Amino acid sequence: MRSALGGPRLLLRRLREISAEPVSAQTRLDKIVVQIAANMVAEVCSVYVLRADSRLELYATEGLNREAVHQTTMHAGEGLVGLIARSAEPLALSEAHDHPAFAYKPETGEDAYHSFLGVPILRGGSTLGVLVVQNKVRRVYSEEEVEALQTTAMLLAELIASGELQAIEDPRDLALYRPASLRGAAMCDGVGLGHVLLHEPRVVVKQLVAEDLSRELTRLEQAVDAMRASIDELVAHGDRMGAGEHRDVLETVRMVAYDRGWVRRLREAVKSGLTAEAAVERVQSDARARMQRQTDPYLRDRLHDLDDIANRLLHQLTGQSYVADRDSVPENAIIVARTMGPAALLDYDRARLRGLVLEEGGPSSHVAIVARALGIATVGLVAGVIDLVETGDPIIIDGSTGEVHVRPQPDVQSAYAEKARLRARRQEQYAKLRDVPAVTTDGVQIALHMNAGLAIDVPHVHETGAQSIGLFRTELQFMLAPRFPRMDEQYRFYKGVMDAVPDRPVTFRTLDIGSDKILPYMAKIDEENPALGWRAIRIGLDRPGLLRMQLRAMLKAGAGRNLRVMFPMIANVAEFEAAKSIALRELDHVRRHGYLEPSSLHLGAMVEVPSLLWELELIAERADFLSVGSNDLVQYMYAADRDNTRVSKRYDNLSPPVLRALERIADAGRRAGTPVTLCGEMGGRPLEALALLGIGYRSLSMSPSAIGPVKSMILGVDLAETQAYLSALLTENDGAPSLREKLRDFALTRNIPL
Ligand code: PEP
Ligand code: MG
Repeated sequence: MRSALGGPRLLLRRLREISAEPVSAQTRLDKIVVQIAANMVAEVCSVYVLRADSRLELYATEGLNREAVHQTTMHAGEGLVGLIARSAEPLALSEAHDHPAFAYKPETGEDAYHSFLGVPILRGGSTLGVLVVQNKVRRVYSEEEVEALQTTAMLLAELIASGELQAIEDPRDLALYRPASLRGAAMCDGVGLGHVLLHEPRVVVKQLVAEDLSRELTRLEQAVDAMRASIDELVAHGDRMGAGEHRDVLETVRMVAYDRGWVRRLREAVKSGLTAEAAVERVQSDARARMQRQTDPYLRDRLHDLDDIANRLLHQLTGQSYVADRDSVPENAIIVARTMGPAALLDYDRARLRGLVLEEGGPSSHVAIVARALGIATVGLVAGVIDLVETGDPIIIDGSTGEVHVRPQPDVQSAYAEKARLRARRQEQYAKLRDVPAVTTDGVQIALHMNAGLAIDVPHVHETGAQSIGLFRTELQFMLAPRFPRMDEQYRFYKGVMDAVPDRPVTFRTLDIGSDKILPYMAKIDEENPALGWRAIRIGLDRPGLLRMQLRAMLKAGAGRNLRVMFPMIANVAEFEAAKSIALRELDHVRRHGYLEPSSLHLGAMVEVPSLLWELELIAERADFLSVGSNDLVQYMYAADRDNTRVSKRYDNLSPPVLRALERIADAGRRAGTPVTLCGEMGGRPLEALALLGIGYRSLSMSPSAIGPVKSMILGVDLAETQAYLSALLTENDGAPSLREKLRDFALTRNIPL
């Protein structure tokens, strides 16, 4: 068997020299294929580049007919080259003609060549093209040769990605710059036109070719050791790696980090001439290419683990930062993230953000709630978006339909610019409704309130004409703070909120932390099921010091005014009573110390734990008001984590079980004369809100941007007819998992604006 001349390292060095020569892109490619052919002792070396129309085009060749360059093209999937592009795997054959996929292109003159070795040109797991060498004689290509050609292909990937080939073709013709349209879940209304900002930036590997092999091997070993040590330490201390991740994830990541095969592949890649960081990138790119073609969710999860490990290694090796630099967020940034905790979003300069795209994270995840509070157009559950984009890519998102357009064509761009203008006009119309009461066509007034959580939300009360702040999520302020806010800081904050809306009530909710709402300065507790764990009022009752301090701050801030406070996650009447007695004791304290007390104090319970549905009469009697947290209530009813995308989409809020449960709460409130409001996300969606009116709700609290659309729906509703329709729908329940389509038809045939 012939061996490669000079080996892969010499070839890499030579290719790097060629890369630096001041020649045209075509000349550079032509020189590269000559070098590869000579080094691999092959008669033919060809480069095929994947175009935006999914065809592979011959860009350069040594050995085949030169006239075929830029003339010969094939589909991905057609012939051996197409097969490699589609499978993203190398293919080595001693007799190419015998392979069933072999397709003969007469203009290339390749019939004279028998043996064939082709490898995909990969970047971040995406195929950018195919690199092929061919020999006249039948020969077997060694594993080292396959490895060497793959390493060489990585250099070509960089050349293609550098944009140099744009000089040869229109950049829009290359797959790399291909426009892509994806669809996810609509999470926060709004059209965002801007540029991608990757929340976790990819590490840019600048130096691909190793200068000193043994030094690179040492760097690799050291980085692997350091990474393992840091993971071991995380496991030992039960610390968290990022929002929402816990022990199981860490354990899996540790398993991958100690995987011998993986480390062996890294070493081999370095030995083929790459720097340690380039080796990590290459091995990861191969793994991604293979795993991306898997549909099995388990394997895709493994891919995330592998990505995580590879990223850790790359950061270790290059010293580059883990998260986007918050201070240098460009104008019109659209954040693209796999997943994100609410605090991470709050860290960004909101004025520069135009949108948020999440690969995971459903509509009632807390980051979505924060995005809605901030009024940032958001699309969630966009599978595969991270692999498709680079920071800086133009992107358009539509938070009302869930559409995402990456590198959009000019006509898509102008269509969305128009849509954004129309939306602005519609917003003006909603603004005109500000002072119009939300009254149905048969004269029933519906109370619309606003959800808030940050000081910047509060002015929206005036803009939207909301009757009050129906839910003030106090934990958001705590999540922003560098340490637990002191009593006087809390007092000033609550007073500031009430001062900003002197003519309208504010319903403060006491701290709802735990689960994915984590205070960075509080020791994290390792829990198997955080959503079912120590959170909200459970923490408040077990650590009454925190709750007492918060209540005291609220009572002082509410001096001389009507103060409304509600407790989250109340699971039984006893918990409400316990929380209430703490509040009353604090009221007593405020009185005894001569502070001016609130003119009235209303204490409410959130109904969001299903057990309370069997104590409804009692809680409706004891509480001054009830507020339904449908986000949590539905998650617990269906035993489906609201943040877990695999299950959260499975069940619909507009289903008989959910609507019946909600109906019972409204009924219990009515019978006891206790006001009931619903403050979960479903209240802000016009179709869901229509159903809620139909089962008896007369008060809804929602994000500010939802008030206009919900009010305009209400103005078109005949309430008596809607109630009769829902009652019939729920009575004649035939076991359908969702009533959404029927309700939509009902609304459409009556021209109710949704
Ligand atoms: C809810 O659970 O519906 C709710 C309003 O509270 P949060 O979304 O903050 O848990
Ligand atoms: Mg809740």
